[in-house]
Amino acid sequence: DPTKPSNFLRNVIENDLELGVYAARKWGGSPGDAQHHAQGMLDPAKVRTRFPPEPNGYLHIGHAKSIWLNFELAKKYCGVCHLRFDDTNPEKEEQEYVDSIRDAVKWLGYETCLADSPVAPGTLQPHEYFASDYFDFMYRAAEYLIIAGLAYVEEQTPEQMRAARGDFNTPGTDSPFRTRSPDENLARFRQMRDGELVDGAAILRAKIDMANPNINLRDPALYRIRRATHHNTGDKWCIYPMYTFAHPIEDALEQITHSIATLEFEDQRPFYDWLLYRLAEGGLIASPHPRQYEFARLNVTHMVTSKRKLRQLVEDGHVDGWDDPRMPTLAGLRRRGYTPEALRLFCERSGVTKSGGWIDYASLEATLRDTLDPIAPRAMAVLDPVKLVITNWAELMGSDASLDDCTAPVNPRDPEGGMRRFKIGREVWIERTDYEDVQPKGFFRLFPGNKVRLKYGHTIVCTGATRDADGKLVEVQATLMPDTKSGTPGADAVKVKGNITWVAVADAVPVEVRLYERLFTTEQPGSGELLDELNKASLVTCSAFAEPSLALAKVGGAGFQFERHGYFVLDAKASHDGKLVFNRAAGMRDSQGK
Ligand code: ATP
Ligand code: MG
Ligand code: MG
Repeated sequence: DPTKPSNFLRNVIENDLELGVYAARKWGGSPGDAQHHAQGMLDPAKVRTRFPPEPNGYLHIGHAKSIWLNFELAKKYCGVCHLRFDDTNPEKEEQEYVDSIRDAVKWLGYETCLADSPVAPGTLQPHEYFASDYFDFMYRAAEYLIIAGLAYVEEQTPEQMRAARGDFNTPGTDSPFRTRSPDENLARFRQMRDGELVDGAAILRAKIDMANPNINLRDPALYRIRRATHHNTGDKWCIYPMYTFAHPIEDALEQITHSIATLEFEDQRPFYDWLLYRLAEGGLIASPHPRQYEFARLNVTHMVTSKRKLRQLVEDGHVDGWDDPRMPTLAGLRRRGYTPEALRLFCERSGVTKSGGWIDYASLEATLRDTLDPIAPRAMAVLDPVKLVITNWAELMGSDASLDDCTAPVNPRDPEGGMRRFKIGREVWIERTDYEDVQPKGFFRLFPGNKVRLKYGHTIVCTGATRDADGKLVEVQATLMPDTKSGTPGADAVKVKGNITWVAVADAVPVEVRLYERLFTTEQPGSGELLDELNKASLVTCSAFAEPSLALAKVGGAGFQFERHGYFVLDAKASHDGKLVFNRAAGMRDSQGK
């Protein structure tokens, strides 16, 4: 819960609110188009957070944590959270990714904040923010730094720059271009912008301190030349801002108050502040500026949370797309049967801390079970079917063809959930693993002479089985014990130790079932060679029989608990034209650790 005291961010925000830090925010000089970018009149006192994905891939479970944290904190303090596409890198970004991110955020249950509609001023509508909308402002900010003597055009080769940067133990050395005059720098920067220099010929650098112990302050790059078509600005620009320069400006223009990043960005914070102090001094942005806070990223065992690595899996065909149900993407988890409620609860349970670590995959599954158990309709399904014949059926029921009705609660934890109905007849499908010729120790299901209950049906006595020439089980036989039907008086007079699931051959619905195991065999995939750690048996497909209530399953509808087998959802892509394909989201208990 982002509202619990253990979440250190809550203390930071409450302190800022108490002191009125952002309510007192002032524009330094002439705000110009900075205020325009901020989308009309913003209430300066509001807590503003943002979720700023780069649209270069699909969101994964790690992003869910960031979405949850930023949106829930905003909600808690009556603030707003901006969904901002951090699209300053023209080569890797695509509209498909923008769309998938928008869908995922919405699906998780969050709506970006309202802002003045650009087409109908005065009307509020959910507003999406794009970093590329600020390219003009960023360019102006760069010129401001040049004029103020705080930035210069660097024309050393990348090798020379690397050598001059020094390292953790060695201070860097000043570039020969560092002493150029502001006028010279300005003219040269404009040549960069106007396409007069080739890609890579020059960069714009901040002029800070080549000897600073923090390497990020050794004159970091602000702009580079890159002739690439941008998904939003097309070919307007051939220079693009670096992420470290762009991101603080994006936050400042949107009047973000608390800019929440993962721990890797801690070393960037001094530059974030350096830049925003300089821009506030120049009157380009308001003051006090947003502050960056860092928390530990979410890592889940057996899962990869790097878009680059996930893209590799997709592009090399190791999985069936970004939304493969084995993928840790939100699109994949959704198809797999995860619900927004379960993922939000998982984020909450994983906590917000300053020290990293790995969360066990089992706890993700446990969260899904905890949320689905009270609400998921139950159903019986036989995943590895073999036929059971009740040989005395006609004798007791009048004819081989006669059927009897059985009922079971839709969900025993929900008394108002009603009952489900299905048939029982002479032939039923049972699990192959429910029969043994000779009783193994501790096995109380079918073996000759043993009594078991067909769950919600009758008690039967196993009489034998038939095998084919290869020894494969083809049929199990049993006799039904009269007056043992579940729910009738005296039904429990005969005590049994085994209770098995089944579906009648007469009303069974054929379905395909996809069982998933972890995509990676290793706990922390990627520490070695990623592809060697892929689980070759991460998908097992079987032809199953399910009870008739499952014929009503809907794509996008709630998941089911298949009794004994776990939680399943209709696959949104593979189910069509009457074909029912169910994905197993999670087993009944943590059994996948093997
Ligand atoms: P990747 O390394 O997978 O590309 P990223 O951090 O580069 O991830 P962005 O699109 O920049 O991806 O991420 C958007 C936001 O999501 C950032 O604020 C980032 O801090 C956050 N985020 C990404 N991964 C995680 C994670 N594993 N745990 C928590 N937050 C995360
Ligand atoms: Mg990133
Ligand atoms: Mg990254």
